[in-house]
Amino acid sequence: MSAALTLLDLLFPPKCPFCQKLLRDPRAPYCEKCAEALPRLEGEAGIRHGDYFDLCVSPLEYRGKVREAILRFKFSGGRENGAPFGAAIAHELFRRGITADLITWIPLGRKRRRERGYNQAELIARSCAKALGISAVQTLARARDTAANTTLDSASARQSNVRDAFCVTANVRGVRALLVDDVITTGATLGEAARAILLAGAESVICATFASTRIGQE
Ligand SMILES: [Zn+2]
Repeated sequence: MSAALTLLDLLFPPKCPFCQKLLRDPRAPYCEKCAEALPRLEGEAGIRHGDYFDLCVSPLEYRGKVREAILRFKFSGGRENGAPFGAAIAHELFRRGITADLITWIPLGRKRRRERGYNQAELIARSCAKALGISAVQTLARARDTAANTTLDSASARQSNVRDAFCVTANVRGVRALLVDDVITTGATLGEAARAILLAGAESVICATFASTRIGQE
């Protein structure tokens, strides 16, 4: 562990994102007590498939404490949650033997980025990349503003809302990209972002999110 990181840990000791208690093991994504009670997605339950990405891996189901922690992270300035969420994804990818050439993330629209002060997907992706020793690269920008997909009910409305929402801003030719977001619901946003990366010449796109809704329950 680097000296800088140790100092950061002293100034901002890592807390469990679910119960806010200090972590005994600063590298653990969350405390042992919470880990036991979380809705883990094992085996095939933790894998989703999409039209433009091969698979999406998620360690946890989006409900209960997991949902609350993500909402806190997005709307109450809990930016320190990026580290444990990213570590949890990294652990899951490692466990499943999944790797990539670069890690990237779903960008926020300019207005939402300004309001929030950070992009939660970027913080998660950077933490995940660091844990796996893979470079984190911004590859996408919003080509236009979209409505928040969570305000739309049907899968087809979400699909058309995000159509052509992204443009690629980095060279991704021939790379196996890993695309990170906080939650997968219908997969419309990740699918559209993956489509843009593939059109720019990437070899493949896989996705990873901290949590996943159960199919049919989004
Ligand atoms: Zn806890």
